[in-house]
Amino acid sequence: MVTILITIAVLTVLILITLKMGLSKKEAVPAEDGREPLIHVSGVYSVLRKSPREDLAALRPTEGAIQKYLDGIDEDINGRSIRSMERADLRKHWKAQMEANLQGIENGDKKGVAFYYYDFPILKCSVCDHFITKGNFVTREEIFKNPQIIPPFHLGCTCILTAHHGSDTHVRETTVTGMLPFFSDETPPPLPEWTDVITLSANAGVNK
Ligand SMILES: [Zn+2]
Repeated sequence: MVTILITIAVLTVLILITLKMGLSKKEAVPAEDGREPLIHVSGVYSVLRKSPREDLAALRPTEGAIQKYLDGIDEDINGRSIRSMERADLRKHWKAQMEANLQGIENGDKKGVAFYYYDFPILKCSVCDHFITKGNFVTREEIFKNPQIIPPFHLGCTCILTAHHGSDTHVRETTVTGMLPFFSDETPPPLPEWTDVITLSANAGVNK
């Protein structure tokens, strides 16, 4: 009788151990399914808010390359002759516009801005006119993935990116009044070449 009781007890323990092992195995499955833990998702968010300054600098010509290019041409894209003083102005303008646009995004990141739109607040840009419509908007994520969409796009460019302080719903509702997405899919739309020089006085002539 005692032997039978001991056998039942041992069997019960064995069954319990087997059940426990089975449960442990099931519990381990979700951790092994290849999905990244949540902390990685929040990591991506912080990357999205990384300044595009370095990535953009890697895509844009150096000051030396700009100077060399300007020194080698006599006319702008419209065949208007470039005076030597205008060469220096174009270089300074390019640098200032680049800084203003980057600072605009860096300041926007501090406030969590999700949308930016292209604007020509002082002068309309006759080169960008063929590529961008005032009010075309981009998301911060599109800027993160494609830093080349940050103006200026070419020497003499007066285009700027302006922060849109609105929610997703708000910006999409505004499309009714002329704000349209710049991207139609994942591919960045064509943009001017940086060598498409337009003298600043020529751009001033198309002021609107
Ligand atoms: Zn432009």
